[in-house]
Amino acid sequence: MQFAMTEEQQMIVDTTRAFVEKELYPHEALVERTGHLPMELIREIQPKAIEAGLYAANMPEDVGGAGLDTLSWLLYEKELGRANYALHWTCVARPSNILLAGTEEQREQYLYPCIRGEKWDCLAMTEPGAGSDLRGMTASAKEDGGDFVLNGTKHFISHADIADFSIVFMATGEEETPRGKKKLITAFFVDKGTPGFSVRDGYRNVSHRGYTNAVLEFDNCRLPKSAVLGEVHKGFNVANDWLGATRLQVAATSLGRAERAFEHALAYSAERKQFGQQISKFQGVSFKLADMALEIKAANLLMQEAGWKFDQGTVTEADMSMAKLKATEVLAMVADEAIQIHGGMGLMDELPLERIWRDARVERIWEGTSEIQRHIISRDLLRPLGG
Ligand SMILES: Cc1cc2nc3c(=O)[nH]c(=O)nc-3n(C[C@H](O)[C@H](O)[C@H](O)COP(=O)(O)OP(=O)(O)OC[C@H]3O[C@@H](n4cnc5c(N)ncnc54)[C@H](O)[C@@H]3O)c2cc1C
Repeated sequence: MQFAMTEEQQMIVDTTRAFVEKELYPHEALVERTGHLPMELIREIQPKAIEAGLYAANMPEDVGGAGLDTLSWLLYEKELGRANYALHWTCVARPSNILLAGTEEQREQYLYPCIRGEKWDCLAMTEPGAGSDLRGMTASAKEDGGDFVLNGTKHFISHADIADFSIVFMATGEEETPRGKKKLITAFFVDKGTPGFSVRDGYRNVSHRGYTNAVLEFDNCRLPKSAVLGEVHKGFNVANDWLGATRLQVAATSLGRAERAFEHALAYSAERKQFGQQISKFQGVSFKLADMALEIKAANLLMQEAGWKFDQGTVTEADMSMAKLKATEVLAMVADEAIQIHGGMGLMDELPLERIWRDARVERIWEGTSEIQRHIISRDLLRPLGG
């Protein structure tokens, strides 16, 4: 067992941090103020990310990515996560790993252009009536003369407005199981502009300004069978096989922001004077710092262990849920306490703290709510006991 970063990992962290500070931080104020990330700005930053080897670095080397092991990838995610979400997701995109599940033809059409920065993907599962309970989805695809015809609505779909295509999960039938009827789900590639497929603006969101969500409508949208990703009725198998580490990605990006907020709080506490002394001299402040540092460290260890186990093939669902749950709850606590340590100044948008605090909120909801993570962890504990 070893806890130190390798030289290569340190280099990844340094390179990514330098990029984030030089290329992303200067544009945060604009995106936060306007709630919009202009395409011209994306096109200005994107080539620099490609040049720096940071774009699509989550992908294996043989398809043009950086070929990072999971732990190194999480360290890179953590650095990107320090910045405004819209900026880092769009300008330094990490295409979904699920694209690796495609056939060579599908890779040519979708995966490689995403890695080259020519296309963006989005992933659509959630519906107005089906969130945590994804099997409850009602949007469907019915076979018709060798094609599939899609109908229904998806909502909360991140960045679907700029995505060139969507990977959409649809109900394609039902099967009998010992616990009653279960929906069969299939994943499809749907290109923007396909007749019967429309994308409209979603909701305004308190977290991650400039990072949009959209509503996807399917109205007799006809797709050939070649649009199926993986096998028919096996959409969740493809998702489980290829989307495994997205909870760890949320943990990593959350910890990046928690560390940024903590650094501000630490520096301010040593600089700000009240009652003739630095506020860090008051135990009411310094104990907050100790708790923040402790919680950040605990969350980092959980994330790193899960990342390491992912590569050993020994990671469990509970490991990844623990990492996500802890990191997102730590972020919420640290963001709140960092504001407290700054007093009124913490709420002003001169500092990144008010937005880190707002942005923290969504992390406990998407990629499985905190309750769903606790459900996964507790099932893992109780299943062997038949509980
Ligand atoms: C900004 C944003 C972007 C998103 N982007 C995407 C995207 O790109 N693609 C996509 O497919 N989805 C996306 N989502 C959807 C996200 O994954 C869901 O919001 C999330 O899974 C929760 O579903 P829900 O909002 O419908 O809440 P619900 O499932 O309705 O949950 C409501 C409450 O009930 C609780 N609950 C539900 N079931 C249980 C249970 N079994 N035990 C205990 N408590 C339970 C929940 O924890 C929660 O507190 C996004 C969401 C947001 C907010």
